[in-house]
Amino acid sequence: MNSSNKVIKFQSLTEKIGRFDLKDKIFLIPQMNRIGSHLLAATFRGFGIHAKVMYTCKGLELGQEYTSGKECYPCQITMGDILYYMKNEKERLGDSFNPENYIYFMPEADGPCRFGMYNKYQRIVLDSIPELNKLKIGSLSTEDGYSLDGIIDKRHVRELRKTAYFSVVIADVLDRLLWRIRPYEKEPGVTDEFIERSMHIMEEVFQECGPKKDFDKILDRLEVIIREGKGIIDPDIPKKPLIGIVGEIYLRTHVQANQDIIRVLERYGAEVLNASIAEWVNYTTYDKLRDARIGFWLNLKKLRLGKVKEHFNKILDFGIELLYQEFKQKQVYRRVRSLIDLSGDHKIAHLENILREEDLFNFDIGTEACLSIPGIVEYVREKFNGVVNVYPFTCMPSTITSAISRPLMTKYKVPYLDTPYDSSTQPGREAAIRTFMYQADQHFKRNGRKMKD
Ligand code: SF4
Repeated sequence: MNSSNKVIKFQSLTEKIGRFDLKDKIFLIPQMNRIGSHLLAATFRGFGIHAKVMYTCKGLELGQEYTSGKECYPCQITMGDILYYMKNEKERLGDSFNPENYIYFMPEADGPCRFGMYNKYQRIVLDSIPELNKLKIGSLSTEDGYSLDGIIDKRHVRELRKTAYFSVVIADVLDRLLWRIRPYEKEPGVTDEFIERSMHIMEEVFQECGPKKDFDKILDRLEVIIREGKGIIDPDIPKKPLIGIVGEIYLRTHVQANQDIIRVLERYGAEVLNASIAEWVNYTTYDKLRDARIGFWLNLKKLRLGKVKEHFNKILDFGIELLYQEFKQKQVYRRVRSLIDLSGDHKIAHLENILREEDLFNFDIGTEACLSIPGIVEYVREKFNGVVNVYPFTCMPSTITSAISRPLMTKYKVPYLDTPYDSSTQPGREAAIRTFMYQADQHFKRNGRKMKD
């Protein structure tokens, strides 16, 4: 890098990160949870956007080359994913390669942790590479509840938003189906093959039915998949200890990053339930509604009527949005649970109430600790046999979760395990999981398992 490349142009952070029109662009989506990313891309494609899911972790070495090691692990992985993808595109297309044809998707969150800085940091790296400095970063933020305004034709924003949310819920259901069936499969490997096939079927369904908002047809197809999936379960395999996962959203859902922890737990005798992605989406809407309510009352006290009106409108917008999300999610789970015993999701207001009742944490602080801590309490109340907290090494919210939850789990006498990850392999990790599963099995033998079976 020559010295002129080291100059950070802050203008670039506003001009080349943000919401850009996706028309005629290739929209590159990083792979977090595999199914969710693919259904989201299919939804975008249905609306005429050329969306692609990037392969993941293949460029980890590049990610490491362009980071110092102090960044969160997901930042390193996604950095590598985009650099590797663009390197391959450049090799494939030769002289016709043009970085301006792509928009790289990297959302952000406000609040006290580093997620809001990933796209800034990645912008600085891209700016330092002459052939990539024109690649724009498409960013949605929790600040405005992941608004999609400006990225497609105004007339379709609402439909896209609703269908994208629906795809998140359906992806959660497919993931839950995998975790429900795989520990009890008749033949090893069939569930993975079945879920992969089902994901591709649902991609086609979303592409076709998403823009028409034909959610009934999507659910009809899901129903066929669930019926087929039930046939994979061997009814003679007895129920296993039930383990709940909480933690940082990227790590707990990115199979390569978490070294396939769910499969490892299953290998030692568990049935696992991971916290969902829709929970995070609902949380961001809930949090915006909560902020608007606080702003409304503060401004009312000071008689700032313009601000009162502004916050009132936000309360309406986010309130309607949250109601819609919760209604849709409930509708899907109601239909799914009439066919198979999958766990549903909790309302975010319920999770906040748990924190208040138990005086453990506060939504004013924000971050995923708001979900993980009450999520753990809820797992305990529902008689799970153990809880695992999955997160990137040095992750702030998950370290808070660990500090609060460890003593709590000792009090509840429920096995608990912290599993921080980076790109290295911890030699004692497998032994720790095995020991944890031994404890969970003892808990299961003494107490049985989840009440709602
Ligand atoms: S949640 Fe954790 S891993 Fe993600 S940005 Fe914040 S500190 Fe980093």
